[in-house]
Amino acid sequence: MNNIYGVTRKDLEDYFINIGDKKFRSTQIYDWLYKKRVKNFSLMSNIKNDIKEKLNNDFSIDIIEIKKVEHDKDTYKFLFKLCDGNFVEAVLMQHDYGNSVCVSSEVGCNMGCKFCESGRLKKVRNLEAYEMIEQLLLIEEKTSIRISSVVVMGIGEPFDNYENLMKFIRIINDDLGLAIGARHITVSTCGIIPKIYDFANEDLQVNLALSLHAPNDEIRSKIMPINKVYSISKVLRAISDYIQKTNRRVTIEYVMLNNVNDSVNNAVELANLLRGLNVYVNLIPYNETEAIEFKKSSKENINKFYTTLINKGINVTIRREFGSKISAACGQLRSKEVKK
Ligand code: SAH
Repeated sequence: MNNIYGVTRKDLEDYFINIGDKKFRSTQIYDWLYKKRVKNFSLMSNIKNDIKEKLNNDFSIDIIEIKKVEHDKDTYKFLFKLCDGNFVEAVLMQHDYGNSVCVSSEVGCNMGCKFCESGRLKKVRNLEAYEMIEQLLLIEEKTSIRISSVVVMGIGEPFDNYENLMKFIRIINDDLGLAIGARHITVSTCGIIPKIYDFANEDLQVNLALSLHAPNDEIRSKIMPINKVYSISKVLRAISDYIQKTNRRVTIEYVMLNNVNDSVNNAVELANLLRGLNVYVNLIPYNETEAIEFKKSSKENINKFYTTLINKGINVTIRREFGSKISAACGQLRSKEVKK
């Protein structure tokens, strides 16, 4: 049975028309769910009893639960327990320009990036759209903080769960849903090429980020197995086509791993690779995690890398470090829970 929180307004309109009711009913339901935040059909007082009963029969309205919260200054980390007992996590970061949440898209991940905690535990299943949406609803309820932007950069590869991802985006972007502007939504992928093309064809102004993490195939294939399927030149071709189609600038994520991809030569190579592309590079300080041998680059190396890119005319920023005290590296909280 479909969970009501995973149903787009369009699909809900179709549902009401199908059962011989009015399209407008979907607006009322969205109002209860997302504005009034009522979690029970029976409390929706302007809906007639027979319709409520139908809704109860046709949709579930189960809610995932917050199992644990860790909090350090401007960062909150949440561990969620799903209705089937699986765990995922999300992070809330408070910036001076607003509050962003990093959500998970799958239980585990099959991409196997060598430096990533999430990939150590293989994918168990996709997240349903409602499970992604409820991460946001529960965070707002628990903290009373209004979420202004969303990044799909938690556990999982969003393009490996494309349909649910798109439902999730449509619902949070809906004015009557969570009303988060498309330009405040970012999807990060390790580079699944066919889905980059699909994404380019969606009528949405959502941001795309590519986890590149290496300036050549030799290094990338060592740390990201996906590179053996979709090499750098192929994925950058797809990104270039994406930019041409959408006219939108793409973010290139580059995690700084000590002695792996962080030399000045690597920066020069990266600049050559990206020259002429409408992208900006986000250098990510590596979040070290117990069971993985990779180390973070020194501040000095990150700064040299950054300056080299700047001098070569590449747009670049260094990502602020959030929550390293509270196991905010994606997947850490879940790993701890699963180990128990
Ligand atoms: N699968 C998607 C989205 C989830 S990972 C992707 O690959 O983009 C989100 C980002 O965090 C990716 O760039 C990923 O490479 C990076 N990442 C994973 N583990 C990390 C760690 N320990 N420290 C810093 N960044 C990490």
